[in-house]
Amino acid sequence: MSLQPDLILRARWVVPVVPQGRVIHDGAIALKDDHIVAVGPADDLLAQYEQTPVEHYPEHVIMPGLVNAHTHAAMALLKGVGDDLPLQRWLGERIWPLEGQLMSHAFVRDGTRLAAAEMLLGGTTCFNDMYFFPEATIQAGRSLGMRVVAGIIVIDFPSAYGSGPKEYLSKGLALRDHMRGDDLVSFTLAPHAPYTVSDELFAKVATLSGELGLPVSCHLHETAHEVQESLEKYGKRPLRRLADLGLVNSDLIAIHAVHCNAEDIEMLARAQAHVAHCPHSNLKLASGIAPIAQMQDAGITICIGTDGSASNNRLDLWSEARTASLLVKGVSGDAAKFPAEQVLHALTLGAAQALGLSEQIGSVEPGKAADLIAVNLGSPATQPVFDPISHLAYCVGPEHVDEVWIAGRHVVAKRQLVAAITAGGSSDWAEPLSLWHNQVGEILSGGSRP
Ligand SMILES: [Zn+2]
Repeated sequence: MSLQPDLILRARWVVPVVPQGRVIHDGAIALKDDHIVAVGPADDLLAQYEQTPVEHYPEHVIMPGLVNAHTHAAMALLKGVGDDLPLQRWLGERIWPLEGQLMSHAFVRDGTRLAAAEMLLGGTTCFNDMYFFPEATIQAGRSLGMRVVAGIIVIDFPSAYGSGPKEYLSKGLALRDHMRGDDLVSFTLAPHAPYTVSDELFAKVATLSGELGLPVSCHLHETAHEVQESLEKYGKRPLRRLADLGLVNSDLIAIHAVHCNAEDIEMLARAQAHVAHCPHSNLKLASGIAPIAQMQDAGITICIGTDGSASNNRLDLWSEARTASLLVKGVSGDAAKFPAEQVLHALTLGAAQALGLSEQIGSVEPGKAADLIAVNLGSPATQPVFDPISHLAYCVGPEHVDEVWIAGRHVVAKRQLVAAITAGGSSDWAEPLSLWHNQVGEILSGGSRP
């Protein structure tokens, strides 16, 4: 077996994320097949692997691909349909009625393709999804070369996907078995929320998570209403209820965690649970602001999610992370909180750790999968560069991502989806869009407007 890499990527800067804060000036990364074999100064790697072809990115920083810790990708088709409503009305008056009429394998497949295209072009290489028809999510993500973490949805009501939680679980677990050979697909158990999942179901999820070693993603403490309702119905806060059912441990990804008191934060920290912070969705639905500074002080790993396009309305992790950092500073009154290197960690390795994928992705290290992005810092918005890590946290947007590789495969080249280029220019996310646009429009004009 040849030890020769297939390709060397050379860039003005390499930011490996590990160790935190490191910048390699004139750096290089050697790739073989789907993984990274070496990273370091370009002079060293070029001398070591003289025969290997080199691609040079003189204005770029190469870093790990971003990991979206929470989304409902297919909801990209519902972008902008429920603006300016609080969560319970947003769900009850807009989202659930629309989903009730539209939900199908095709809706999820086409919506996820649209979302995956947006995410890839902005440098997101992996997303943790929660939705119905996860097989359609996987199909769509993989058709564009993306890494997918599919949620096995658990929710206490029927849908076009199945008759209820029992069927959702059996379909989800069968899908997991079916996808075993695909290194780019992994799973979480995804109970929707404390107000849509019974005690019995949560206990079942806890058992399965323990048996199968699966992370558990759950919307948790998203609104004050959710906490109040739980106190009235169960006599305890949702997190306490989940803890009593065996779910608060290092497998838990608490999505949102907006309304957390000191006791909640201590419980999450002691359990080494993770928090998927989605500030734009929380702000847009007026749910509140998660106490991220206190969580970080307590040692909780924070990762960043966009939530779905219907409540954001972007799938842009750069702006999401920038807002996260600025909110922490503004709310705490301490500008030193959530500094740039921690922002990058949250966008990459933090999310990989939460998803149980930190052995494979989240940093540029030998042996890890080659999930990489090249970010162009040559534009007016990103010049001059004194510290590329500062720019990645506070200046850069999706428009600066020129190249994306996932498991060594070039999936975005010169800001174009490679899957679309090889299909002769017709991008497979665009074609079904007008069909769904018409259908959503018809339902909305049919009188469901509040
Ligand atoms: Zn969500």
